[in-house]
Amino acid sequence: MRTAPTILHLDMDAFFASAEQASKPSLRGKAVVVGGLGPRGVVATASYEARVFGVRSAMPMAQARRLAPNAAYLVPRFAFYRSISEQVMDLLRALSPLVEPLSLDEAFVDLEAGGAAWDADSARLAGARLRADIRAVTGLTGSVGLAASKMLAKIASERAKPDGLVLIEPGTERALLAPMPVRTLPGVGPATGDHLRRAGIHTVDELAEAGEDELVRLLGKAHGHALYAMALAHDERPVVAEREAKSVSVEDTYDVDIHDRTRVGTEVRWLADRCVRRLRAAGLSGRTIVLKVRRYDFSTLTRSETLRGPTDDPAVVREAAARLLGSVDTTGGVRLLGVGVSGLADYTQEDLFAQAAGAEAESPVEEPVRGPAAGRPAPAERRWPAGHDVRHAEYGHGWVQGSGLGRVTVRFETPDSPPGRVRTFPTDDPDLEPADPLPLVHRTPAGPEGTALPGQGDGAVGRVSSEAVAEGG
Ligand SMILES: [Mg+2]
Repeated sequence: MRTAPTILHLDMDAFFASAEQASKPSLRGKAVVVGGLGPRGVVATASYEARVFGVRSAMPMAQARRLAPNAAYLVPRFAFYRSISEQVMDLLRALSPLVEPLSLDEAFVDLEAGGAAWDADSARLAGARLRADIRAVTGLTGSVGLAASKMLAKIASERAKPDGLVLIEPGTERALLAPMPVRTLPGVGPATGDHLRRAGIHTVDELAEAGEDELVRLLGKAHGHALYAMALAHDERPVVAEREAKSVSVEDTYDVDIHDRTRVGTEVRWLADRCVRRLRAAGLSGRTIVLKVRRYDFSTLTRSETLRGPTDDPAVVREAAARLLGSVDTTGGVRLLGVGVSGLADYTQEDLFAQAAGAEAESPVEEPVRGPAAGRPAPAERRWPAGHDVRHAEYGHGWVQGSGLGRVTVRFETPDSPPGRVRTFPTDDPDLEPADPLPLVHRTPAGPEGTALPGQGDGAVGRVSSEAVAEGG
């Protein structure tokens, strides 16, 4: 292990929710919950104000609504988050060629490899600069952990949250870890945690005390060894810049061509399940579902579908594969079928819920309904997901606060404006159309969106950004 705390872990603070608050002035300082709004939806991210009520990532949305009935509930806007993520990752790549993204808002950086730091002082300086640059360029805050290993850097950033920086001095790792719950260590999920608790092991110190043999006996060879090493704060994993572009796939060749369409569908479902088992065993999730079909005449077709976010949900993969099968003619018979998942990512919570969240767009009306067209039925093709941007011919840029019963409620405000007013329209109002998100930070003097008021904080921060970027890169 290296002797200087030059591995940096960055984690943006309540990323999706913070991005929404930055883009919607009326939500700043308020409880905001981003996630799937349908009956089976789960929380992707809760703002810190919502966490006060006990709302957490991965919680069923219904439970979140009970805990925080007055929070704003929004559908995720992944294209928007991705554009901010790219700005952040660019800042990281300016520090080092070794940047390992873990999700849209999280990454490891090897500062030493980039010459950006070589000891504790230079690492702390690089981390502080990075935080300032991220703030200037994106308008959002991120927390930074610095340590001599990936495991400790991640623990450090967790302790730094929100909007902080924590550096763990090499040599102090074991003492720091000792009193922490075993769940702090990577790879200790709820099941392993329960297993260890039944064996009387609650803290990292107790894990180390138990000894390697006992852990291997309890958890199996690979997991036991790995956990013992981590309990001693040994973590030699390098920061890996490029993830191997790989996919997980399974396929079957049939002795006799399959003609029966129902049977083909059953085989594809079964392959999808096997594929997901392999995916999960590797601790991965992926965005692109691939179906391969070799027909009776040896012509081979592949069809693929890219989801909004990585998944390892068997139902999602099954459904995508079934949709893809729907576009393939199999009447002559099928010799081979395959299902694969590519565009792989490490299992991360926020990504996992992308699918569930993206699938559901409607949300209940949250505002009293007014307007001339009350009662008119909504045409099915015009949907107004809560939180998404819109533009009105007369009132300008805003976002959907709620929709339903043929009406849509819009709050008219922009990242630079003061909190805006709410108006309600019929969902088929020809003056209302979907719009792209506005940048959170203005880099040039106000454009056509020139509603920015002088003295608004974000605008002022934004003007510093070009210098900060030039200096960093
Ligand atoms: Mg985060």
